[in-house]
Amino acid sequence: MKKTSKGKKATYAICEACGKEMAPGNGCGLTHARIGSEEYERIKVGDDLDFEPGTYDFCHDCNAGPGQYHHYNCDAERCPCCNEQFFGCDCKAFELYCYRKKTLK
Ligand SMILES: [Zn+2]
Ligand SMILES: [Zn+2]
Ligand SMILES: [Zn+2]
Repeated sequence: MKKTSKGKKATYAICEACGKEMAPGNGCGLTHARIGSEEYERIKVGDDLDFEPGTYDFCHDCNAGPGQYHHYNCDAERCPCCNEQFFGCDCKAFELYCYRKKTLK
């Protein structure tokens, strides 16, 4: 995450999945991941299966807080299906994001 400090209001990237700013405490609005024909609840920040179970910090990459969902493209989210890094696993997670993105509109 990059953010500007010094005087100006900080700006954050916009999540492509939910459309929110990735500001601290703004968890992702997308709650489930579609993998194949199944829908899985995504792994939240601080969940037992998260990369940092029990953390009280905001995600270093997407700024989601404990108990919130990581944002699109976050490198710290685990896949709810295979538990590998969501960003690069073989479950074709990106398809599901695109799927949701279309249906959200
Ligand atoms: Zn999001
Ligand atoms: Zn994250
Ligand atoms: Zn996976």
